[in-house]
Amino acid sequence: DQDGAEAREIAKVIPYFPFKGIPRFYDIAGFLSKPEVFQKIVDVFVERYRGIGIDAVAGMDARGFVLGPPIALALKKPFIMIRKKGKMPNCIESDSYECEYGKRSGMCLQRDAVKKGDRILIIDDLVATGGTLSAGIQCVKMLEGIVVECACVVELKMFIDPPEGSGLPNRTKMFEE
Ligand code: 5GP
Repeated sequence: DQDGAEAREIAKVIPYFPFKGIPRFYDIAGFLSKPEVFQKIVDVFVERYRGIGIDAVAGMDARGFVLGPPIALALKKPFIMIRKKGKMPNCIESDSYECEYGKRSGMCLQRDAVKKGDRILIIDDLVATGGTLSAGIQCVKMLEGIVVECACVVELKMFIDPPEGSGLPNRTKMFEE
């Protein structure tokens, strides 16, 4: 929860970054510099996902690459990268998507990273509109994998069912689609 005590402990809030239209940027460097907090976060995820039949842990470019690998290692599962388009060879590509920062050109995943029926856990640091995770889900589905869950450390609540006319994207609707 973006306003909870834990969020304040793990993320510094920087106003108007990376540009003016973003009132609050949650900087996760806060928890990376505190090993005991970083470890606690990894432990919470590992406890939730141990024993429920995950085949691989996927991290979203780029902060999912920081958080995903220790979780994958603790679960003794492969780690796979869902990267911004054009960064890896032999990939499938998602459609372009809208996110908190505007329009993005799409994410990519290597064809041999996921096999049909693989159960994938997707990790990122933060979910805002859900656009980035939706692109990751699309990549896994294109290879006929199953997304068991998406897990993030911080969620920005303002994108859950925002009031009509607020101009904010609606994450609930996005995930329903
Ligand atoms: P969404 O696609 O849900 O709108 O935005 C989430 C994506 O943008 C994530 O990959 C996340 O890393 C990045 N992002 C958006 N806002 C923030 C923020 O305030 N702090 C951090 N650390 N990442 C953000």
